[in-house]
Amino acid sequence: MKNAPQHPAPADAPERKAVKPVICYPVDTLPLPDMDAYAAARETVELTETLVVQPREALTFKVPKGSFFRIISTDGPQVGDLNLWNARDLTERFYSGKTRALHGTHLSTGDRMWSSFPHMRPMATITCDTLDWYGFDEYGGGVHDVIGTRCDPYTGRLLSGKDYHQCCHSNLIRALAAETGLTTEQAEVHVHDVLNVFMCTGFTLDTHQYFMKASPVRPGDFIEFFAEIDLLGGLSACPGGDCGDQHSSDTAPCYPLTVEIHQPDPGTLAGWVSPERSPYPGTHGM
Ligand SMILES: [Zn+2]
Repeated sequence: MKNAPQHPAPADAPERKAVKPVICYPVDTLPLPDMDAYAAARETVELTETLVVQPREALTFKVPKGSFFRIISTDGPQVGDLNLWNARDLTERFYSGKTRALHGTHLSTGDRMWSSFPHMRPMATITCDTLDWYGFDEYGGGVHDVIGTRCDPYTGRLLSGKDYHQCCHSNLIRALAAETGLTTEQAEVHVHDVLNVFMCTGFTLDTHQYFMKASPVRPGDFIEFFAEIDLLGGLSACPGGDCGDQHSSDTAPCYPLTVEIHQPDPGTLAGWVSPERSPYPGTHGM
């Protein structure tokens, strides 16, 4: 946060501040997903699995590469915190910071969820988002952010002095431990910054602080992903509900979220190849 300055502006401050920004990572050379192929594939899908994430809880789910999964709002406005891992290697996981650097603060159709170093490949591609109409509102808010982290008991303790165990961080730990047989301590190191599904967030225009506001999601809305590699997903139904008021407590109305796995006709994906990990040799100049 920028507090009142303690140093006077130099004479050429206006010129320095007027320098035009450039995009850090121009995406003209980013290999684009073949959205037409995904569109053809999603015409052929069959529902193979349905899971329901209870409010203030999390579940894990497996998605074979070449399949789609949907996160669906069913009963009321509810935010979900999504983690993704390589189903066979938990050290390859969703990298929210690099995804943000490539695709911006909020994701929608055509954007990809990139994995951590040294893998750095698309784990999933967003193929449908019924909230894409939202864009950005007058406060700078948008839906499905990669700027927050996940609600957690450590920040809760820091700011309120209280312990709350149904935060998304803790929910994801319990779910991952149940899936893998890891202890809570072992599972915790694998839980990572999330895609905030359906959450409406931004940075305030004056202080640029992270804000949230009631999610515009309504029952029937969904976001759909294509699994580029074999995935283990973790989804927490955030204790903040629609995150319009507060999180990390039992006071917000909360609703379940549904996860559906859809299998397309493999023939429609004849030209698709599961991405390899980054070809960078990992020598780092040595
Ligand atoms: Zn949460």
